[in-house]
Amino acid sequence: MELIFEKSKSDGEKGGAYLPQCDVPEVSLPKELLRDKLSLPELAELEVVRHYLALSRRNMGVDVGFYPLGSCTMKYNPKINEKLARDPGFAALHPLAEEAAAQGALAMLYELEEYLCAITGMEAYCLQPSAGAHGEMMGMMLMRAYFEDKGERRTKILVPDSSHGTNPASAALCGFEVVQIKSDQRGNVDMQDLRDNLGVDTAGIMMTNPNTLGLFEEKILEIAELVHGAGALLYYDGANMNALLGQCRPGDMGFDVVHLNLHKTFSTPHGGGGPGSGPVGVCKRLEPFLPLPRLVKKGDAYVWGEDKNKSIGRITTFHGNFAVMLKAYYYIRALGADGLKRVSEDAVLNANYLLELIREKYPPGYQRRVMHEFVVPATPQKEKGGSALDVAKRLIDYGYHPPTVYFPLIVPEALMVEPTETEGKKTLEAFAAAMLKIDEEIEQDAAAVREAPTTTPVSRLDEVKAARELDICYKDQE
Ligand SMILES: *Cc1c(COP(=O)(O)O)cnc(C)c1O
Repeated sequence: MELIFEKSKSDGEKGGAYLPQCDVPEVSLPKELLRDKLSLPELAELEVVRHYLALSRRNMGVDVGFYPLGSCTMKYNPKINEKLARDPGFAALHPLAEEAAAQGALAMLYELEEYLCAITGMEAYCLQPSAGAHGEMMGMMLMRAYFEDKGERRTKILVPDSSHGTNPASAALCGFEVVQIKSDQRGNVDMQDLRDNLGVDTAGIMMTNPNTLGLFEEKILEIAELVHGAGALLYYDGANMNALLGQCRPGDMGFDVVHLNLHKTFSTPHGGGGPGSGPVGVCKRLEPFLPLPRLVKKGDAYVWGEDKNKSIGRITTFHGNFAVMLKAYYYIRALGADGLKRVSEDAVLNANYLLELIREKYPPGYQRRVMHEFVVPATPQKEKGGSALDVAKRLIDYGYHPPTVYFPLIVPEALMVEPTETEGKKTLEAFAAAMLKIDEEIEQDAAAVREAPTTTPVSRLDEVKAARELDICYKDQE
């Protein structure tokens, strides 16, 4: 496909604008701003529309097809929330508007904090972080501040070996030493390894529940007791909250700090890296350390409080990603408690149904009911000359976004599938049929599958090179 710059040269077309006669004196532009100096592309309006629409149709998105990218929760997000978030009453409000002129927006933020407290069982929330990983970093800063305040020197953060890469990264970024904890045969945290590594220098443990294998941590209450008993804290990575909405709460499991990924669980499309929001909830004893400014209610008015006391300070400009919060607010209000419960029920049902459909050819490593996602090792396919990557790439030819591959790291040839609650039975069955078909194709001609995808503008890329040397000027199947 031609770039718009190339098109402009080859077509020689110009966009026309019909403006009324100028009624003020004309002044000439500085030379460097003249059209021929800028070499901007110039095309008729219709050509511009076609160019960008053609580009957009090369994108994969949940609005185009099934997108079972494990851990990322690529569910369908109701369009009405996008429309509501564009309401000029909110969208045109300046972040520095006086409190008195922004009471509606502040009320929304305040109520959202309350809803998130109710959903997760935490005492207070800070909505500022712009992503899950940002929330993790803030959580680590809170833990550090908490122990500094107590005069305790705790330098280590425990992280299960199934954890998401951002967990150890966030802990390391905040100056902690990361200690990896093994998983046991059932995919839970290995209790003996936890006991062996828990000590007076442990600041906390970072966990996801259900974990990244899609399995519920069965001994979470015992883990919380052990960790608290050692004087350390528990951090909850809430990226998998889609599995638990309305069923149980991290606060009740004993977690002290929680982040949620509003863009995953609460209605914001987030392919391509954003926009995101990773609010952090805390228990009572960590509340004094929350970032500033804090939103407080004085009588009937909402105001920004700046009580500096023990706060870790500011962690973002203004108040975070407001539009994402707004969508989460609408989503929660529209679904209500019953609706949120239904989300997790359907998410878990869909994952288990899909797993049953493909289990024979893709047997899971852990013999348990899964939660909202599952991980299967493509080792049977490996034995036939294929790989997890081949299955993933071939799925593109069938019109599906591939699942997450080679994560979590403890599963060889991992395929991590998260169907989400918004998909129907037919879609799951069609996807399962494609998975089974691909297994058959590998059996018959693995070499051919290794060529996949064959229906896309480019086929297999050297992924390292493609990531390091971005070249967006590809040509159509030359
Ligand atoms: C997505 C994810 C994160 C990171 O969240 P971002 O919002 O992408 O920064 C952390 N942990 C898990 C388990 C995740 O799935």
